[in-house]
Amino acid sequence: MEFIDLHKQYRALQENIDARIKGVLERGQYIGGEEVRELSERLAAYCGTQYCLTCANGTDALTLALRCFNVKKGDAVFVPDFTFFASAETVALEGATCVFVDVEERTFNLDARKLEDAICEVIRQRELTPKAIVAVDLFGLPANYPKIRAVAKKYNLPIIEDGAQGFGGSIGMQKACSFGDISTTSFFPAKPLGCYGDGGAIFTDNKAYYDLMCSLAVHGKGTFKYDNVRIGYNSRLDTVQAGILLEKLSAFERYELQDRNMVAERYTKALRNRYKTPQIPDGFGSSWAQYTLILKDKNERASLQEYLKAKGIPTMVYYPKPMHAQTAFAELPSRKEKLTISSHLSDCVLSIPMHPYLTETEINSVCNALLEYNQ
Ligand SMILES: *Cc1c(COP(=O)(O)O)cnc(C)c1O
Repeated sequence: MEFIDLHKQYRALQENIDARIKGVLERGQYIGGEEVRELSERLAAYCGTQYCLTCANGTDALTLALRCFNVKKGDAVFVPDFTFFASAETVALEGATCVFVDVEERTFNLDARKLEDAICEVIRQRELTPKAIVAVDLFGLPANYPKIRAVAKKYNLPIIEDGAQGFGGSIGMQKACSFGDISTTSFFPAKPLGCYGDGGAIFTDNKAYYDLMCSLAVHGKGTFKYDNVRIGYNSRLDTVQAGILLEKLSAFERYELQDRNMVAERYTKALRNRYKTPQIPDGFGSSWAQYTLILKDKNERASLQEYLKAKGIPTMVYYPKPMHAQTAFAELPSRKEKLTISSHLSDCVLSIPMHPYLTETEINSVCNALLEYNQ
């Protein structure tokens, strides 16, 4: 059994994906072109945003978004403490200061009440200018945008939705990657919608941001490529990857998202009486980038992980270190005592196999092993 089975997905989609790749190779345009244009349009339509710009990866997508808000030295950007490093790294790369905010235990996402506390703290201290909020859709579940948006409005701060794991999630009828003033995603192979290399995309309804990011992604281009009006980046999604994503997006829409949810439902039904299973708030939908259990402590997690490994069931720890405990952020003033949930989660979380091609037998063997262990 694989943790995320990309072989099985390739076998299911092989004919169409091979044809897409061959088409690009035969036409001989490897950057930009028809596939990239069609993909951006389909992604924007899927997420319900006016604009979508594809780029080289999810990290660049965050950097391009931060540039739109002129995030710089002396600014405070509020970032969940429990996330993948890139959510915070990109803020630091712009010279701004990350203010880490604790998350809710059962959704793993930014706690809106603690976000407001952190903003007030920065305002009181008068050292940094509150500039933006990065909210992350961890493990596929959108953050609580209704509550986060209320706080953002009160303090007049833009929201960047880091939807690297969130593509396909929803709140009511609204899709993830449309909740931020600018939203981003990643097509890293292991994400809910992944390509066969690196890739990313940015979503917004704001034309000025979109135009600026189009320029930044191609060396700060002006009216044409060799007219350079600002310092930018080289951040594009390859044509081959766009072709692959067109096929994968079709499968994602046709059945993969549904099948991910079916696997999650089976897990929850079997395990919820014995384990702390993930909670999806009413009206929210997850794309289940991960299915993550919360164990009692580090020791229980380690022994369960061993036990499952012996039975051929792979597991992963996302994430073993919260942002505030990362060596790269050692110089930041400590808010450790306010980040207790993130620290607790880092010690106790364990993600089990999750992908839309898990068979009945595989799902049962994961559930049975987990139930046997906890007897
Ligand atoms: C994967 C990920 C990123 C970075 O995406 P890349 O495409 O790997 O650069 C950013 N934020 C989160 C939450 C992620 O999971």
